[in-house]
Amino acid sequence: MTARIIDGKALSKQLREGFKTRVGALVAQGVTPGLAVILVGDNPASRVYVGNKVKACEECGVRSFHIALPGDTVESEVLATIARLNADPAVHGILIQLPLPPHIDGRKVLEAISVHKDVDGFHLYNVGGLVVGNTIFPPCTPYGVQLLLDTTGTDVAGQNVVVVGASNIVGKPMALMLLQREATVTLCHAKTRDLAQHTILADILIVAAGKPGLIVPQMVKQGAIVIDVGINRLPDGKIVGDVDFEGVKEKASWITPVPGGVGPMTVTMLIENTLRSAERALRIRQTDDYQDWEAPVLKGV
Ligand code: NAP
Repeated sequence: MTARIIDGKALSKQLREGFKTRVGALVAQGVTPGLAVILVGDNPASRVYVGNKVKACEECGVRSFHIALPGDTVESEVLATIARLNADPAVHGILIQLPLPPHIDGRKVLEAISVHKDVDGFHLYNVGGLVVGNTIFPPCTPYGVQLLLDTTGTDVAGQNVVVVGASNIVGKPMALMLLQREATVTLCHAKTRDLAQHTILADILIVAAGKPGLIVPQMVKQGAIVIDVGINRLPDGKIVGDVDFEGVKEKASWITPVPGGVGPMTVTMLIENTLRSAERALRIRQTDDYQDWEAPVLKGV
């Protein structure tokens, strides 16, 4: 069997076309969706990621505010920048590009973002929402994976899903989202003993460890769906995932390539969350009714 390819680039393009209509509807009602991206320091990879986000905004008609702060910016200044953006009605989403320099408390900074503008979904309020299955802004990478899975026509309810990697931004929220959809979820990490013993049972295998070549064909069940979240740059400059794509595609029923799988979806879901935020802001303005929101957000949080 050779796996069918789950094409994240194509799905992304399709979704972004749909975004243009939503932006048009918002603009017609006097709201231009806006996303602020804060970059502290000049990490080259972060600069590329921020550039991609700003470009995606432009493509979809979302206004972007790129705030570049020097690497030695003090924490209080970062917090003041966030406070200013929280209060700015032109800004519907605020994103802090991670990692932050070590002298800045990342958790404190993430908690400073208004839950109404937390389009990355990293604020504890949104994380808690995810636990009870009612988050406002699902974190972008797992959200994108969920949509990629949907394109295979698979109902995840009752399926054995194994997630390899348990970070706060990918693995853990991914596991929670699939649990919400009634999958049986196993969450593996670096201390998991005999990883293959878990992965071989997966109907759906999602890998987000940042280790090239971690998943080889012997670890994959015949006919499994394999989603590779990993992005690794090899010494020769080539970008690969965590899965041995050439080998595993001979066993899987569906597989994502790297690049062109999960990567484009992450930025696309960031735009989705920004539009969702702008649409909520408009609804609130029109109704001034907090009960009308799709999630019970506390007034003034
Ligand atoms: P991270 O914070 O470094 O977390 C990696 C996770 O993988 C940790 O939970 C770690 O376990 C686990 N792990 C490491 N080695 C392992 C092993 N040998 N076996 C099993 N688990 C192992 O990384 P991240 O931010 O989640 O990102 C993971 C990968 O996804 C990276 O390649 C990153 O570039 C990529 N990524 C891609 C996108 C995208 O849009 N496609 C978005 C975000 C991240 P411990 O918890 O025990 O340390």
